[in-house]
Amino acid sequence: MSVRVRFAPSPTGYLHIGGARTALYSYLFARGHGGKYILRIEDTDLERSKREFEEVQIEDLNWLGITHDEGPDVGGDFGPYRQSERTQMYIDIAWQLVKEGKAYPCFLTSTELEELAAKAESEKIAPHTYHTKYRDLDPTEAKKKIDAGEEYVIRFKNPGKTWTFKDLVRGEVTFPVDMVGDWVIIRSNGMPVYNYCCVIDDWKMEMTHVMRAEEHLNNTCRQLMLYEALGAKVPEFAHVSLLVGEDRQKLSKRHGATSVKQYRDENYLPDAINNYLCLLGWSHPEEKDIFDVRALGETFSMNRFSKSPALYDIQKLNFFNSHYLRALTGNDLVTHIEKSIHASSPFHKQTAQWKTTCCELIKEKIQLASEANTFMPLFFEKTPSEADDQLKEALAWETTPAIREYLKSELSKATGEYLSVDTVNAWMDHIKKELKIKGKPLFMGTRAVLTGQCHGPDLQILVSLTPIELLRQRV
Ligand code: GLU
Repeated sequence: MSVRVRFAPSPTGYLHIGGARTALYSYLFARGHGGKYILRIEDTDLERSKREFEEVQIEDLNWLGITHDEGPDVGGDFGPYRQSERTQMYIDIAWQLVKEGKAYPCFLTSTELEELAAKAESEKIAPHTYHTKYRDLDPTEAKKKIDAGEEYVIRFKNPGKTWTFKDLVRGEVTFPVDMVGDWVIIRSNGMPVYNYCCVIDDWKMEMTHVMRAEEHLNNTCRQLMLYEALGAKVPEFAHVSLLVGEDRQKLSKRHGATSVKQYRDENYLPDAINNYLCLLGWSHPEEKDIFDVRALGETFSMNRFSKSPALYDIQKLNFFNSHYLRALTGNDLVTHIEKSIHASSPFHKQTAQWKTTCCELIKEKIQLASEANTFMPLFFEKTPSEADDQLKEALAWETTPAIREYLKSELSKATGEYLSVDTVNAWMDHIKKELKIKGKPLFMGTRAVLTGQCHGPDLQILVSLTPIELLRQRV
């Protein structure tokens, strides 16, 4: 049977970085095993689910290159791929289960339910393990109540067993017999619940593997019962470890950006995000850190998952981003960086050649494209930053006035808009050989005079990108 793996987000918000990791793992596993990767939208929570969130989540996934073979937007043989469009099937199957004595309509009122919960508490038995008095109600009696308009839910008849399965990440997992009672599969408003729809869909859509976050582990208990009742084959499960922040708490907004959209808006590189996410709970067999996730193929195997929570560290993600940023060259580099440069910056008016040289120059100094903005004053403003003590000191060295005088005279003779790197080199040579200024006083002194800063990117290239007019104003 060929591999089929799905990612099943709920469109109740933006795609969470943890969701992106699950999607990536599912995609990589399917791709590495010649299988199909499917996107299913779990939108049975009608109040919280929004079509625009679905759209943005798909955009985010496409941006990351996690593209699906089947899904609501591309179709497929197992559709519809939105749960809200499958409601009737869920209801029909629920009544089939009722017919087979595996589920039942339950008419307990909320007061009765509260009483049951209180009783369970006073008897110190696990809550929700009760069977309700409607479990064995005669079907004709039940029908009468329904026809009379009584409110009801449909409960699954828990067969009361211990459930065990072999998780591909966590090994053997056993759920105690009293973990759940007869649980609701169809709510009183006629809407099916997640645990129920999920199984029906994974079964009907012929999923062979289900990868999802560890927080869904306990749901597997209810789901296993249902597979058995349906006579359906249980897929292989892989519950991947939790993502946590520095405080070891589940990753949330207070740890920083957690939605893929934020990273997309901040112009991160998708390859960097994929590479970093891939390593959060999985390790490369050759212990590599930097690799092309798309080229992993069969290397992406289930036996390299870690059970322990994975620490999500934005600094580390930024490091990955800087690596992938440096790997960009030419047009690709410019197109990427210029998206982050403020719209009003004169950068946008420069020639293609200037932009390329500029981006090549600063890419070594930044982790994120947006940081390129901090370098722009060097090219376009007389005073790129406020003078700090080091600059004041460099300008006050006894060798610096000679450098300034020399540069001033050379600049007054210079023609054209920009200097060439060769010219700047020749000037530096002159300062060294004729003015006899070497080492730090030469390099930092010249930099201080020409750029108004003591440190920065390669001086010769930087100066060759600065308008001669601006250099004249600085010396
Ligand atoms: N809709 C569920 C979620 O977003 C999916 C759980 C699953 O993959 O089974 O968490």
